[in-house]
Amino acid sequence: MGGEEPQTKDDPQNPLGTVRRVEASDEMTPFEAATYFFHRSADRLNVRDEVRAVLSTSYRELAVQIPVKYEDGSIHVHRGYRVQHNGARGPYKGGIRYADTVDMDEVRALAALMTWKNALIDVPYGGAKGGVHCDPTAMSHPEKERLTRRFTAMISYIIGVNRDIPAPDMGTDAQTMAWMMDEYGRKMGYTPGIVTGKPVELGGSPGREEATGRGVVLCTQEAAKRAGMSFRGAAIAIQGFGNVGYWTAALAQEAGAKVVAVSDVRGGIYNANGLDIDTVLKHSGDAGSVQGYHDAEDVSNQELLEVRCDILIPAAIHGVIHSENAGHIKAKLMVEAANGPTTPAADEILTDRGVTVVPDILANTGGVTVSYFEWVQNIQQFRWELDQVNRELEKRMSRATTQVFERATANNTTLRDAAFDIGVDRVRSAAEVRGYV
Ligand code: GLU
Repeated sequence: MGGEEPQTKDDPQNPLGTVRRVEASDEMTPFEAATYFFHRSADRLNVRDEVRAVLSTSYRELAVQIPVKYEDGSIHVHRGYRVQHNGARGPYKGGIRYADTVDMDEVRALAALMTWKNALIDVPYGGAKGGVHCDPTAMSHPEKERLTRRFTAMISYIIGVNRDIPAPDMGTDAQTMAWMMDEYGRKMGYTPGIVTGKPVELGGSPGREEATGRGVVLCTQEAAKRAGMSFRGAAIAIQGFGNVGYWTAALAQEAGAKVVAVSDVRGGIYNANGLDIDTVLKHSGDAGSVQGYHDAEDVSNQELLEVRCDILIPAAIHGVIHSENAGHIKAKLMVEAANGPTTPAADEILTDRGVTVVPDILANTGGVTVSYFEWVQNIQQFRWELDQVNRELEKRMSRATTQVFERATANNTTLRDAAFDIGVDRVRSAAEVRGYV
């Protein structure tokens, strides 16, 4: 293809996200990057054009206005989104993000990644994502509650226990899910299965909060073993200290690794001898950032990616590893806990340099996997014990990880290509057998 103008974000002429096929670069929007990896896989799998047209665009996209009254009496009109990418394998499923980067393109990309992720980890869901453009760190508790309730009411027409099930993502948490469930229930009656990642006392699953981090660690241990590297004692740098970053750090330390660097939006800290994660957490709670921790030197988020370590785990936002820094990464193994942290251009550089990259759609599936267990418990009104949750999570993570490594070896591809091939192939055949295309 080529020769056309690049699609712009929130392009009204392009409501469902058709993107032209482009060369790998840093300039791609998140959706262009996600679609780039999809098309490479569709080429390898010889996906028919009609099927490709369905799988490379969203099924449904909803954009809503959310007027919110702030404490000072002013009214801000936020923009919210819910994108359902593909539902061939089951109800749409994916988190809700509150961040000032949110726009239709970002949500659309994240929805597509959920489709491939859910297929790869083999939970019976399609892919979706939602988001609200806002700065949750600058909002009070009641402001966030008003925003969440209004947003829930606005998207209530297209969500449902058997239709589309939201969950937390960046900037949202169990409290956000409690408000969503409550707001939805006001109209529809008690419906715990409408969202996952709820507080345990409202029907949330034990183990859901730490599930993404637990899955990242399980996957990292397996990848280290296959790379002939010992996980115990390995130096790990983690970008991000939110839910995913913190739990990854805490559980990696518990499993014997040495976490040498962590960071948050303000910046990071580094100590070659290792950090004590719970003390760092306490410091960051008091100081508002990990920076300034007594037993480490402050580094920038940029420096964190390039520190000397064995394993690098980006666990913050998309696009942080690009062609400018991919050549400076010292780690031999990189595990993507964030969604879309590596640009397609950086991905090529890392592959050429022989860095093993465990892709997002495998590494961070622990969250949605335990979301699935939560939904199952809600539907059956039957509570599982924590050890059952963790056992089932481990089983699924290890199965998917083995499948990805084996496919990559058999077809001589990267792990990302193998993961996309498995996910895309499963969605393709579900869509075809349903008679969807
Ligand atoms: N937001 C998480 C993700 O990106 C979890 C989604 C879910 O549990 O539905 O995978």
